Amino acid sequence: MAATRIWISNPLAIFTANDQDASGGLVIENDRIVELLGAGQRPAHPCTQHFDAREHVVLPGLINTHHHFYQTLTRAWAPVASQPLFPWLQALYPVWARLTAEQLELASQVALAELLLSGCTTAADHHYLFPDGLEQAIDVQVEVVRKLGMRAMLSRGSMSLGEADGGLPPQHTVQDAEVILSDSQRLIQRYHERGDGAQIQIALAPCSPFSVTREIMRASAELAEQEDVRLHTHLAETLDEEAFCLRQFGLRTVDYLDSVGWLGPRTWLAHGIHFDEQEIARLGAAGTGICHCPSSNMRLASGICPMDALEAAGAPVGLGVDGSASNDASNLILEARQALLLQRLRYGAAAITPERVLGWATRGSARLLGRHDIGELTPGKQADLALFRLDELRFSGSHDPLAALLLCGADRADRVMVGGRWRVLDGQIEGLDVARLQALHRQAASKLLTA
Ligand SMILES: [Zn+2]
Repeated sequence: MAATRIWISNPLAIFTANDQDASGGLVIENDRIVELLGAGQRPAHPCTQHFDAREHVVLPGLINTHHHFYQTLTRAWAPVASQPLFPWLQALYPVWARLTAEQLELASQVALAELLLSGCTTAADHHYLFPDGLEQAIDVQVEVVRKLGMRAMLSRGSMSLGEADGGLPPQHTVQDAEVILSDSQRLIQRYHERGDGAQIQIALAPCSPFSVTREIMRASAELAEQEDVRLHTHLAETLDEEAFCLRQFGLRTVDYLDSVGWLGPRTWLAHGIHFDEQEIARLGAAGTGICHCPSSNMRLASGICPMDALEAAGAPVGLGVDGSASNDASNLILEARQALLLQRLRYGAAAITPERVLGWATRGSARLLGRHDIGELTPGKQADLALFRLDELRFSGSHDPLAALLLCGADRADRVMVGGRWRVLDGQIEGLDVARLQALHRQAASKLLTA
């Protein structure tokens, strides 16, 4: 079959995430980038398609490294709209425990559609609810990801420490260790793709120190090592969690992580807020990744992740929108703006540039997921792109197009490409009836809360 060669020419601005010049655009052959062009340069070989990007800012497809898709059904729920993490969770657990396969399918479609429209091409999800009838939750999500043509790191979450044993979640929401581990193994064997261009990957993700046993943490680390997949969990999100770890395990969070064999480069953590200097140095030396979720951290008043210190220590850092019950949006370009603003509050304006934050949302996030084939624009990488126009009122009078994306608050991509295929054209997702999805999702959300 003849190769499809697409020339994306002369962008208004382009961010390659690696300091290379691509002001003349780039050339894509099938699913990969094959050439970056300097100003005035033309492709080395004839192209079958040409897209004139003079009105577009071109970015590598954004990569989201923490979410709970199912939570799109419980956004802005009045009883917890102004609660911190623990009471927020305790009120929501019984609601979430009623989740059905059909509701999860709709919730995942909504979360992924929102992400895609915000310029995201790869999304990680952390799913840890498997009530009766929803044993195949991850299988449901795989289908949704395939339908939308995005890439995903679906993490098989777990909860195994219920209230009866000192944990936070109600007993009926936790699973036995054997069930968790055998389902994890099944999912890896069935779905985990390896190598460049992978669409679906599986990670193992016990939920948090206060909802799983040490045994499941240890066993997950061993299984991840054996199967060569990644490990993910929530850590150091709140001071309540730190107090829980001291009380339950007699350890601070990083000591606990170390004690169960998780302090290494296979692991990426959501939040990572409450670390002392020594802990930051240990995480950096171990190469353990941190996903910063600024909106969620502000919404629940959890604290500010020390991104600059973590990065200086050598820890990979990236971004995540977190579950939609604590954000409550799934918009990754807006999340990058939040990261810029929040981190400036901590480290000053000069230290946190738009380019640095866009680097977290792309190359940094790719590192968290252990991927070398996405997150930057250079020959050999996958053709995952997000293109934004700056023609809305909010951009009028702006000068630097890259800075304008974050400072003026871009919230929607005009075009998105995944592996050489356009998934969003003129701000619309190919093959998805958003109005219909929204109607069904709204019904599902009200049913979940009134059941
Ligand atoms: Zn989370």
